[in-house]
Amino acid sequence: MNKHCIVIHGGAGTIQRNSMSPELEKQYRQGLTDALVAGNAVLEGGGTSVDAIEAAIVTFEDNTLYNAGRGSVFTHEGKNEMDASIMCAKTGMAGAVAGVSHIKNPIKLARAVMDKSEHVMLCGKGAEEFAKSLNFDFEPDAYFFVQQRYDQLMQIRDSGKTQMDHTAADPKEGQKKFGTVGAVALDRYGNLAAATSTGGMTNKRFGRVGDTPIIGAGTYANNKTCGVSCTGHGEFFIRSVVAYDVSCLMEYKNFTLKQACEEVVNKKLLRLGGEGGLIALDAQGHAEMVFNSEGMYRGMKRAGEEFVLGIYRD
Ligand code: ASP
Repeated sequence: MNKHCIVIHGGAGTIQRNSMSPELEKQYRQGLTDALVAGNAVLEGGGTSVDAIEAAIVTFEDNTLYNAGRGSVFTHEGKNEMDASIMCAKTGMAGAVAGVSHIKNPIKLARAVMDKSEHVMLCGKGAEEFAKSLNFDFEPDAYFFVQQRYDQLMQIRDSGKTQMDHTAADPKEGQKKFGTVGAVALDRYGNLAAATSTGGMTNKRFGRVGDTPIIGAGTYANNKTCGVSCTGHGEFFIRSVVAYDVSCLMEYKNFTLKQACEEVVNKKLLRLGGEGGLIALDAQGHAEMVFNSEGMYRGMKRAGEEFVLGIYRD
């Protein structure tokens, strides 16, 4: 196979057909299409998988429907603290940021950590200082204010619980909400790359960080095996080292990509009660979009083939 290909997700969770209006579904599908078009354009033009996934994620981060960048959920204190990571399988290098505020596109900052620093992960104020030194775009609180997200926080703020963005019910529309974004690509040079970006979980406190910026948990890419980007209840994904586990099953046990993804998402995570899913691509271009929740926003575009989009389980 080995044609260029990009796979994306816009979060997994309680996403039900009967609680989605046709208009809203159209908007979500458009968001998925925009991300695929942006990433695919880079691959078509001979660009690298790293450039392709960054381009795809930026469209999600600029879209308030998705829990990343501008549409990030609120912390207990009513702030937005974002996490993002990226990994290039060709070089084996990775970059990540955790708990950053006011950064317009956290995925670009994660990429800068990978390309322009000797580190892998920067967090909070330090990461923001690093961004300033590189003249990154900063935005005021108002840019990140989305009324629905704020309403989600108000519903659970005093419960002491955190909540996956897409598992929150909106009393007004009877809708379920949506989450974290990710992309994995294989370029024409045979190199994989993976990236993930999120606002995390609604009502998070104490500088809580999920799996998204943790290389090996939320994001991983290795040309010998696969690229993976996860979405779901981060604590479970961290403890299960999900993305790396998929790669390890292929590397050490000769599982196919499909077998490895099924084992991790529908057996191991399920046994622990870890809700969510992942997208993955192997070095031959086989793609998987696997989830144990009711739905996952997902899509794929392979060279010369139609766009594939999905939301629900069927
Ligand atoms: N994995 C993310 C986190 O735990 C949340 C999500 O995927 O929606 O922060």
